[in-house]
Amino acid sequence: MSLMRTTLIALSRSRGLQDLIVRVPVSRRMARRFVSGETLEEALAAVLNLNRQGMLATLDHLGENVTSHAEAIAAADEYLLALEALQQAGARCNVSVKLTQMGLDLGEDFCFSNVSRIVRRAAELGNFVRIDMEGSPYTARTLAIYRRLRRQFANCGIVIQAYLHRSQADVEALIAEGIGHFRLCKGAYDEPASIAYRDRPTVTRALNALVCTCLAPESRARGAYAAVASHDEEVINFTAAYAYHHDIPPTAYEFQMLYGIRRELQAALVRRGYQMRIYVPYGTHWYPYFMRRLAERPANLLFFLRALVGD
Ligand SMILES: Cc1cc2nc3c(=O)[nH]c(=O)nc-3n(C[C@H](O)[C@H](O)[C@H](O)COP(=O)(O)OP(=O)(O)OC[C@H]3O[C@@H](n4cnc5c(N)ncnc54)[C@H](O)[C@@H]3O)c2cc1C
Repeated sequence: MSLMRTTLIALSRSRGLQDLIVRVPVSRRMARRFVSGETLEEALAAVLNLNRQGMLATLDHLGENVTSHAEAIAAADEYLLALEALQQAGARCNVSVKLTQMGLDLGEDFCFSNVSRIVRRAAELGNFVRIDMEGSPYTARTLAIYRRLRRQFANCGIVIQAYLHRSQADVEALIAEGIGHFRLCKGAYDEPASIAYRDRPTVTRALNALVCTCLAPESRARGAYAAVASHDEEVINFTAAYAYHHDIPPTAYEFQMLYGIRRELQAALVRRGYQMRIYVPYGTHWYPYFMRRLAERPANLLFFLRALVGD
């Protein structure tokens, strides 16, 4: 993993830099490439636009690591509003939720009761909640809350990060428990070599291996579902080829990509008949999300720095 990526991910947690960056107009402009807007209305318009292009969506109200109960409750309330708005608009869109935004740092039981409100309302509306996966200090607690949620609700799924050594075992255990509803991704945080693969080819291979595990007939017989979340053509082509050779219809899995990233590839996959779901973030707390997107691609950072100097 490059030093630049490590540095940017470390800076994504810096409050001081955040205060500086969010005030500069050029950062707000560039963030708009990855963030649909600051309000629910703007996000809804983006979702409906994607739906018109034949794409599904998942809505993310930006926010993480809240430090008060009030903030966590307000964040869950915002998701309840979003679920109602999606329903009223007839949008083909579910929601993605981060547990540290739901108060995970303030206690597991509190977080569970807060996120349950969203999952319960989504169930009533026939919708679905994806639990995003954050940095490794939260992996075990996130999985524990996911298991608790699944004891009460069928309409939620989890994210698995291929770079973690533990992920293959986690996926197998969740499939054996009959709750293997996955978004599979490479992983966006900076994890030490003691627990994570750090070179790109190994992470790509690990992701492809997870795809095989989830799409295997015996896994699907136990209800496993794979949403393959990657902009990497190696992973996408591997998944499509595996499915084709095993007679798995494109409706039995889906691809997912982030809003504003590789839009042509998103459209091309839809034209080829694949299900494509776009992760649509919105809100004012876009700084850490934006920094992780810069960290994923050196060209993004260069572009940003050039714009910053010229601004
Ligand atoms: C729908 C979705 C949900 C996600 N949820 C989570 C989550 O819950 N937890 C988590 O840890 N991670 C999550 N991620 C992020 C993921 O872990 C990776 O960090 C991210 O997707 C980059 O990996 P990649 O598989 O696209 O491959 P990469 O090898 O990083 O990228 C492949 C190619 O895609 C393009 N690309 C990738 N990223 C960018 C970018 N930022 N800007 C411009 N081009 C880019 C480039 O052309 C690059 O060469 C999610 C990703 C997606 C698509």
